[in-house]
Amino acid sequence: MSEAAVKICIYPGCERPAVPANPLGGPQPAFCDLEEHNALTAHQERQRRASDDRQPASDEERSDG
Ligand SMILES: [Zn+2]
Repeated sequence: MSEAAVKICIYPGCERPAVPANPLGGPQPAFCDLEEHNALTAHQERQRRASDDRQPASDEERSDG
C-alpha cells in the first residue's frame, strides 16, 4: 500500500472523497468538490440533524371502546 488513505468529506452524510491538496502547497481541504459543502454548511447541517434527532410527537393514543 503506497497510496495514502483517501480523505473523506466531513460534511454530515457525505461520503465523497475530499478534494486533493493543492500541488502548490497548503493543507488538504476537508470537504469534497461540492460547493455547498463547506465549514459553514456542515455546521448548519449538524445543527439541523441534532434537532431532527428528537422523535416527533405522536398522537395515536386512541382507545376504541
Ligand atoms: Zn461533501
